[in-house]
Amino acid sequence: MKPRLLIATENPGKMREFHEILAPLGWELVTPQSLGINLTVEEDGQTYSENAAKKALAYARAGNMPALADDSGLEVDALDGAPGLYSARYLARPGATDADRRAYLLENLQGKPRPWMAHFHATVAVATPQGEIEFADGDCFGEVIPEERGTGGFGYDPIFYMPEYGQTMAELPEEQKNSLSHRARAVKNALPVLMKLLSKS
Ligand code: IMP
Repeated sequence: MKPRLLIATENPGKMREFHEILAPLGWELVTPQSLGINLTVEEDGQTYSENAAKKALAYARAGNMPALADDSGLEVDALDGAPGLYSARYLARPGATDADRRAYLLENLQGKPRPWMAHFHATVAVATPQGEIEFADGDCFGEVIPEERGTGGFGYDPIFYMPEYGQTMAELPEEQKNSLSHRARAVKNALPVLMKLLSKS
């Protein structure tokens, strides 16, 4: 029987990224929806690893199978690493959208000398229902630019420019983003621990 892995995310963009990277391995990738799991896990940790572990463990226990979760963020050098861990909640205004958060980030960068060097960071946690947890990290380097470019991706993608590709993350074809993103790199780095944990399940 194929090993089963629960992908602990409600974000369709992340789900597609995880699928693209993991599909070739031939494991059965299970979504929370297909199990009727509807969990809200509060991301109140002090580190990416804490948040990713909390999510992976909650889903692994709810689905009774190994689960993979990530926590990620955008770290801007000129803002001392902000929004970082708080990227999803950077603008504490009810109903704020990704576009509002991008605008707020650019406001905070006004007057700071360019280039606004930045990187996306992702930590992936893989947990078993028994409580074993393993981690892997990935980064993707670039710069924040003051005008939005492209319509793909999500979050800060339209203002995250990668000089070596001459495009923002939102301009890259989806398959390309999914193979070079911080999350893709973290999942690739997690493959050895995934194989170890899934071989036991
Ligand atoms: P979380 O990992 O779900 O907590 O989300 C972190 C936040 O970081 C997201 O809501 C986005 O604002 C931002 N983020 C993480 N990964 C990406 C990405 O690949 N592109 C754009 N923004 C991202």
